Amino acid sequence: MPLDVAAGAKATAHMADPTNSQLRRRRGLLIVLSSPSGAGKSTISRMLLESDPHITLSISATTRPMRPGEVEGVDYHFVDEAEFQRMVREGEFAEWAPVFDHHYGSPQAPIKAALREGRDVIFDIDWQGTQQLHAAMGEDLVRVFILPPSMKELDRRLHERGTDSDEVIAGRMQRAAAEISHWAEYDYVLINEDMDECLREVRSILDAERLKRWRQAGLVSFVRDLVASSPAQ
Ligand code: 5GP
Repeated sequence: MPLDVAAGAKATAHMADPTNSQLRRRRGLLIVLSSPSGAGKSTISRMLLESDPHITLSISATTRPMRPGEVEGVDYHFVDEAEFQRMVREGEFAEWAPVFDHHYGSPQAPIKAALREGRDVIFDIDWQGTQQLHAAMGEDLVRVFILPPSMKELDRRLHERGTDSDEVIAGRMQRAAAEISHWAEYDYVLINEDMDECLREVRSILDAERLKRWRQAGLVSFVRDLVASSPAQ
């Protein structure tokens, strides 16, 4: 066999090898975890981030005061109202919304880069932000809602967390019912009775969503080469 033909045959065989990186190349996805405060989404997103190198967290900007233990640029970008409004005016947010007495928004810039580079982005945002992201991002967005097993358990978890005053917790409990009323706008709804089980379920959702046909950018050329390499050709 002439050298260039041998090299061509080898290249074709390589392209049709399902383990090659061309096939695994995929578009990233955006995954939203919404729930009432205290239902466990922050813990779940932290556990996912620690165990999966392909996911990054969308770090929101917020006008709310920093809680003890929070770190600027890790939990949120803490900004004042004037800076937040500047970011809104200059189109820096993919979505933003008022939550409780403050503003929260997801910066736009990191999202598109992540999608292109095949990285996934996780969002801890409320139903208002999810609606806006869904309208803007379509099928790039996977929406997951996490329910607490009961309102009593939600109240218990908020007190156990020890980060908010009784007054703030009462406000969060009131808002929880409003947040839960949006459960049917999500693609997946989980009940967080057991944190490990809930995490397993979120991982299964991610595994399946990553395999969606249109996210597998390498499939078109893989199938073309697969068919072209048939001995029957
Ligand atoms: P917390 O003050 O407890 O950190 O968050 C309060 C609520 O704001 C949570 O339900 C959280 O999901 C939501 N939230 C956090 N960041 C954003 C954001 O960037 N956009 C929207 N729409 N909601 C957010």
